[in-house]
Amino acid sequence: MRMSLRAAATLLALLNVVAHAASAAPRAARTDCRGQAIDDLQRLSPRGYEIYEAVADKKQFLTWVTCDDLQVGLATGVHETVHVLTAERDAYPLIDGSSIPRPHELSKFFAPREIAKKFDAKDAYVQNYLSSRGASSKDDFMYLLDELNAYSHDLNSSSRLVPLQRHDRQVDQRDGLAALMTFVMSYVETAQQSKPATWEGLQHPEPRHLVQTLWKQAETTLASSCGIPDFGRNDRTYIASLCDPKNGKALTELLGRAPVCARECLEPTTTSSISRTQ
Ligand SMILES: [Zn+2]
Repeated sequence: MRMSLRAAATLLALLNVVAHAASAAPRAARTDCRGQAIDDLQRLSPRGYEIYEAVADKKQFLTWVTCDDLQVGLATGVHETVHVLTAERDAYPLIDGSSIPRPHELSKFFAPREIAKKFDAKDAYVQNYLSSRGASSKDDFMYLLDELNAYSHDLNSSSRLVPLQRHDRQVDQRDGLAALMTFVMSYVETAQQSKPATWEGLQHPEPRHLVQTLWKQAETTLASSCGIPDFGRNDRTYIASLCDPKNGKALTELLGRAPVCARECLEPTTTSSISRTQ
């Protein structure tokens, strides 16, 4: 599930369309951009296009593509389709085209909602992924990792779709992945401190390899987006937390190395370092 501020904006756009449709001059949502949008996805984000290509139900992907904001619509389509493929294949599809099976033993680990109290209850990502009213990720670490993977694909695509970006609104493309990485780091830290069964379970070969793989993919994706200025709203808060060594001790043990700090994302915004076509 993708319930970021961006998704809320998309929903608002859809509701506006519904409101227009109900008015005296009914009109359908604009869909005439979709063919071109998929061509743009293939050209600018081949990995995102592979996700589109892999799913059988193209119509479902296209429902996320509103002509109002192609960058957000396409990245959201990729995000949601990663969830679809993960469920269908019982495996996490990775950005490099490979996939990694879901170890169902993760569902026996402690519920991620138990770490919600460590974060700001008003934060949209805390509410959507950790709070009692949130998505299935609040109950099951397997689904929290599903979100980490989906947001990695999401940011990877939106970074490459920058040429389609609207410049008349604030964006939060980087927030989702930064938030999910912070939640996973905190979850592992809590496991080591006070959840011995989960901490022991995380050491098993499959869960450990999975966390190592998804984390590396996430940190590579986050770091490679840092050259894009103003690509988030609260991303710096999350990234500062990720870069604080005292928060990453347990994850360091699990990864067998220290997490890489996306330091460049914390530097003052410049427009000269941007790499808009990577
Ligand atoms: Zn999601």
